[in-house]
Amino acid sequence: MLRALLLELAKSSRLRRWITSHGATRRMARRFVPGEDLAPAIEAARACNKAGMAASLDHLGENVITREDAERARASYTAALDRIEAEGVEANISLKLTHLGLDLGGEFCAEQLRIVTRRAEELGNFVRVDMEGSAYTDRTLRIVKQARAETVTVGTVIQAYLYRSEEDVRELLGAGCRIRLVKGAYKEPSRIAFHRKKDVDANFVKLMKILLPSGTYHALATHDPKMIEAAIRFAAEQNITKDKFEFQMLYGIRTDLQTRLVRQGYRVRVYIPFGQDWFPYFMRRLAERPANLLFFAKNLFRGASPPA
Ligand SMILES: Cc1cc2nc3c(=O)[nH]c(=O)nc-3n(C[C@H](O)[C@H](O)[C@H](O)COP(=O)(O)OP(=O)(O)OC[C@H]3O[C@@H](n4cnc5c(N)ncnc54)[C@H](O)[C@@H]3O)c2cc1C
Repeated sequence: MLRALLLELAKSSRLRRWITSHGATRRMARRFVPGEDLAPAIEAARACNKAGMAASLDHLGENVITREDAERARASYTAALDRIEAEGVEANISLKLTHLGLDLGGEFCAEQLRIVTRRAEELGNFVRVDMEGSAYTDRTLRIVKQARAETVTVGTVIQAYLYRSEEDVRELLGAGCRIRLVKGAYKEPSRIAFHRKKDVDANFVKLMKILLPSGTYHALATHDPKMIEAAIRFAAEQNITKDKFEFQMLYGIRTDLQTRLVRQGYRVRVYIPFGQDWFPYFMRRLAERPANLLFFAKNLFRGASPPA
C-alpha cells in the first residue's frame, strides 16, 4: 500500500516542487544522490574505485517532452563518457530512454542512443539502458536489440517482477546482450507483474540461473542478501568464476554489503545518480524501504545527517 502510494506520489509535480525546494529534503536526498553536477559524481566514483568497486554514472532525468531536452541529455552522456576517460575513473554510464526522448518517437530516441553508444565504443566504454515502467518495455527492448546489432557497447535491464521477463531474457541472450537483473522499481498491475515479494524473489533466482551460465557478462543488481547468497551458491556449484559476473548496488544503500562482497573477491559496481532531476529517483528509493520514509519524516525539519 505504502509502496504504491509513494510510487504514485513520485508523479506529482506539486510534491516535486515542495521537496526539491527545501534545504532539509535536499540534504536528505544526498544519501542517494551525491550531487547535482557531474563533478561530485566523478568524486563518488573515484571513492568507489578506491574501495575496489567500479561505478555506473546516471544523469538523472526521465520523460523529457522536447527534442532540445533530449539532445541536451544525450550531450550530457557523451560529456560524462569523455570525463570518465579524462579522469581515469573506472565507470560506465546508465541512462533511461525516456530521457533521450522515447516519448517523442522511437527513431529519434534510437538516434540519440546511437550517438552515445558510438562515443562509448570509441572510448572502449559501455552504456547500460535502464528499464522503466511497463509502458516502455517493448519499445526499450526493440531499441536496445537494434543498438546491440550495431555494437557490443550496449546492454539493458530485466525486471524479475514482470511475468514476461523469462521470455525477454531468452531473446536478449540470443542477441548476445548483457543484462542487469533487478527486481523492478515501478508500480505495475498484477495482470503483468508479481506483487508478492516471495514470487518476485523466486523469479529473480530463476532468471539468475539462466543468466550466469550463459557465457555473457551479466550483472545482478540487488541489496537483498538472500538473492546474493543464492547467486554465490549457484555460481560455486556451476564453477562460474567470480570474474564472469558482477553485483551492482545503488549509491548509499547497503555499503556494508558492498564492502563485504569486495573482500570476498566479487566484482561490485555502484550505481551513482547525479543531476537536478532527482525527485522520482528519490521517491522510488523511499518506496523500497518504509524505514527510509520514517527517517525522512523524522529529520525533515531537523537537518540531521542520514545513517550509513
Ligand atoms: C544498480 C541498480 C540498478 C537498478 N536499475 C533499475 C532499473 O533499470 N529498472 C528498475 O525497475 N529498477 C532498477 N533498480 C531497482 C530495483 O528494481 C529494486 O527496486 C531495488 O534494487 C530494491 O530491490 P532489492 O533487490 O534491493 O531488494 P528488496 O527486497 O527491495 O530489498 C532487500 C533489502 O535491501 C535493502 N534495501 C533495498 N532497497 C533499499 C533502499 N531503498 N534503502 C535502503 N535499503 C534498501 C534492505 O535491507 C532490504 O531489506 C536498480 C537497482 C540497482 C541496485
